[in-house]
Amino acid sequence: MDFVRGLAGVFLCVAVLLCGSAHAGNSTAFDELLSVADQSRSSDPEKFSALLKEMDARRSTASKHQLQKLGYLHAYEAVVYRQDVEEGIRQAKKLADEGFDPAIRFRAGALIANATAINRDFTTGLRYLEKALSMRGDVKDKDIRHDGIGSAAMIYNEMGQYALGLRYAEEILRDSPSSRAWCGASHARFASQLALGKSISGDDEVRKIIARCTAGKELIGANLVRANLARKWAKSDRVFEAVTLLESSLAEVEATRYPWLIAEFRSILADLKLSSGDAKAAEDHANQTVALGKQVASSAAVVSAYHTLYKIASAREKSTSALELYKRYAESQMAHQSDVKARELAYEIVRHETQQKTKEIELLQAQQRLERENTQKAQLTTLFLAILLAGAVFWAFQVKRHQHQLKKLAQTDSLTGLGNRHFFTQKSERALVEAARAGEPASLVMFDLDHFKAINDTYGHGAGDWVLKQVGKTCASHCRKIDYLGRIGGEEFAVLLSGIDLPGAERLAESCRAQLAQIDTRECGYSFVVTGSFGVSSTAQSGYDLSRLLSHADQMLYRAKNEGRNRVCAYTAEAAADHRSMRRAPSLSVVNR
Ligand code: GH3
Ligand code: MG
Ligand code: MG
Repeated sequence: MDFVRGLAGVFLCVAVLLCGSAHAGNSTAFDELLSVADQSRSSDPEKFSALLKEMDARRSTASKHQLQKLGYLHAYEAVVYRQDVEEGIRQAKKLADEGFDPAIRFRAGALIANATAINRDFTTGLRYLEKALSMRGDVKDKDIRHDGIGSAAMIYNEMGQYALGLRYAEEILRDSPSSRAWCGASHARFASQLALGKSISGDDEVRKIIARCTAGKELIGANLVRANLARKWAKSDRVFEAVTLLESSLAEVEATRYPWLIAEFRSILADLKLSSGDAKAAEDHANQTVALGKQVASSAAVVSAYHTLYKIASAREKSTSALELYKRYAESQMAHQSDVKARELAYEIVRHETQQKTKEIELLQAQQRLERENTQKAQLTTLFLAILLAGAVFWAFQVKRHQHQLKKLAQTDSLTGLGNRHFFTQKSERALVEAARAGEPASLVMFDLDHFKAINDTYGHGAGDWVLKQVGKTCASHCRKIDYLGRIGGEEFAVLLSGIDLPGAERLAESCRAQLAQIDTRECGYSFVVTGSFGVSSTAQSGYDLSRLLSHADQMLYRAKNEGRNRVCAYTAEAAADHRSMRRAPSLSVVNR
C-alpha cells in the first residue's frame, strides 16, 4: 500500500478542512460576519451555515467585493457540506475567472483543484491549480497563500509528482507558516520524501512533527504522519513497532470521523496483522475498512483491505467467498488504477498545455523584443541620418560662408571697405548695359586726392591711411544705394551714377569736394586740409562704354589738377571740343594701365 497514492479525499481533508485561515475583517459589520464565518468554516459547520444565512439576508448592504467573498464561502459550503460538488465548482469557477482581487481568485482556484478530485475532473482541477499558483506572489495574506500552496503540494503528491509536492511543501516551510500550515506542509514533505526514497530525517524528527501537530490540535495531520511512519517501519521489519503506533492512535483517528484516515489506519493494520499471523484482527480491520463505503471506494486502502480479506478466505479454504473477495479486490484495483491513470493523464495534458503556453509566451516575448530592437535600430538610424544631415547642412553653410567671405575679400578694398577696382569695373559695366537698355543717362565721377604724397611724407603713412578711410566714408554718404563707389587706385576713387546726367553728376562731385575739405583731421593727431580734384563724364558725351567714360573723366581730373586742384571739371560738349583740339596730357589714372 502506498499512503500517498489513490485517495481523492485527501485533498479536501488536508487542503480544505484542515487549512481554514483566520482573516482580520475590517470595521464594517458585513466584513466582521465574513471573517467569523471564514474562521468557523471547518471547525464549526453549524455556526458557519447560520452565518451564511445571515449574510444572505443582508446581501443588499454588501459591496461587490464582499459578495465575492461570500460567494467563495458558499462554494466551499456546497463542496464540503452539501456534497453538491458540481454547484460548488460552478460558483468557484466564476470567482476564479472574474474575481476582483488575487486572493479570491487564488482561493477559488485551489477549491476547484480540491473539489474536482471528487468528481474526477482532474484536468480541470490542475488547470485551475496552475493558474492559482502563478498568482500566489500577489496574494498578500500568508495563510491564504499557504492554503493554496499546501493544496498543490498534496495534489501533486497524489498525482505521483512527488518532486513538485516536495518543492511546494518546502516553499511553505521556508515562509514561517502558522502551526496549521506547518503541520500540513511537514506531512506533505515527509510523504514526498518517502515516495522519492530520499534520505529523510530520523524517527525523532518525525516524532517531533507528530508532537507539534498534536499540540496544535491538528489531529488529522498528526495521524497522516503516523500512518507514513508506520509504513516506513513496516518496510524495515519493524512490524511490531508499526502496529503498536497505529493501535495506540486508533481511538484518536476514529474520533476524527474522517473516513479516508480511518481507512488508511485500518488497512495498514489489517495487512500487518495478517503478516504477523493474527488473521482474526486482520479480518476485523479489513472489514471495517471496506465498510466505510463510497467515500473511500477507489482508494488504495480498500484495494489493500480486499486483498487481505481474499488472502484470509483463501487460507481458510473457503473457495466461494475467496473467489467473491478476489472479484471485489480486482474491481477495486481496477477502479483505483483507472483513478491513478486519469490523474497521470491529467498531469500530462496540463503539463503539455503549460509548456505550450510558455512557448507561446516566449515566442511573443521574442517577437516583442525583436520589434523593440528594430524600433531602436530605426531610431538610431534616423538619429544618425539626422546628425549626418545636420553635419552636412552645417558643412555646406560653412563652405557657403567661407566662399562668401572669400568673394567679399576679393571684391573689397581692405582699408576703406569700398569695392575694389575689379569689383567697381564689373558692377559699372553691368549698370551701363542696363542704362543703355533702358535709354537712361549715367555719369561717372572720378577724383584723386591732392598732394597726398605730401600728407604721407609729413604726417606719416598712418595718417595717410586714416585720410583714405575718411574720404571713402564721406563720399559714400553722398551716394545712393544704387551708385557704385570704388577705390580704383592708391588715392583715386570713382562713382558710377545710374540715371544721373552730367549736371547732376557735377553737383554730386561738387558736394563731395566741399565735404572733403570739411574733414576734421585732428582725429588722426594732425591738423591739415584734405582736398581732391574731380573729373566728371557722362553717357551723353562719352556713350555707354566704361573705358571711354573713365578716360574722359580722367582727362577732366587732369584738367582740374592743372587748373589748381580742389575743383570739379566736367566733360561737357565744349570740353570735348577743346580736348580734341589739344594734345592729350599723360594720364594720372591707373584705369588703363
Ligand atoms: P597730386 O596732387 O598730383 O595727385 O599729388 P600726389 O602726391 O597726390 O600724387 P602722387 O602720385 O605723387 O602720390 C600719391 C601717393 O599716394 C603716393 C603713395 O605713396 C600714396 N599712396 C598710395 N596708396 C596709399 C595707401 O594705401 N596709403 C597711404 N598712406 N598712401 C598711399
Ligand atoms: Mg594725388
Ligand atoms: Mg594719384
